Amino acid sequence: MTVFQQKQLRPSDGPVQISEEQLMARVHELANQIRQDYAGLNPHLICLLNGAFLFHADLVRSLDIPLTIDFMQTSSYGDAKQSSGEVKLVKDLSFPISGRHVLLVEDIIDTGITMNYILRYLGERGPASLKVASLLSKPSRRKVEVPVDYLGFTIPDAFVFGYGLDRAQQDRNLSFITSQK
Ligand code: 5GP
Repeated sequence: MTVFQQKQLRPSDGPVQISEEQLMARVHELANQIRQDYAGLNPHLICLLNGAFLFHADLVRSLDIPLTIDFMQTSSYGDAKQSSGEVKLVKDLSFPISGRHVLLVEDIIDTGITMNYILRYLGERGPASLKVASLLSKPSRRKVEVPVDYLGFTIPDAFVFGYGLDRAQQDRNLSFITSQK
């Protein structure tokens, strides 16, 4: 069992395994940093459905500062394990973000195509600031460079599921993340 911590990409043949305890510890670390950075700013935390729903919920619960939330959804891979490369907006924001300090909460950045699209989309709506929190990143797969301000774990090129991330729409309810079939 190998854990890939942020900035510590360790080559390994083993499966990716991130336990519930490791997830919670990292979420609390990220929340501590976000709490400091956004003190007095009343941030607006946008959850990218569906994959980020547990990460977003645990993150906002750990943030004991005034904040607001919203949800948006882009077209995903469907049941496939590869991105089509096309991004479509499936669910738009419910609240305006003009003048708000927006923190986009994502499950995983793979090629970066989705995040690149969303950042451009939100950037045109006049937020006071726009940052990204992603639980996972697969930098070896990147096709478009995107900024990630708060990153949970860097992982190798493996398809992972659990803790909000699906495997053909199943397994989102696992309390841990794994790449084991
Ligand atoms: P990107 O546009 O960066 O290639 O893909 C981002 C989206 O692809 C993520 O939000 C997620 O929905 C999906 N994705 C990418 N890699 C994985 C993976 O390993 N497991 C799962 N379940 N989804 C993934």
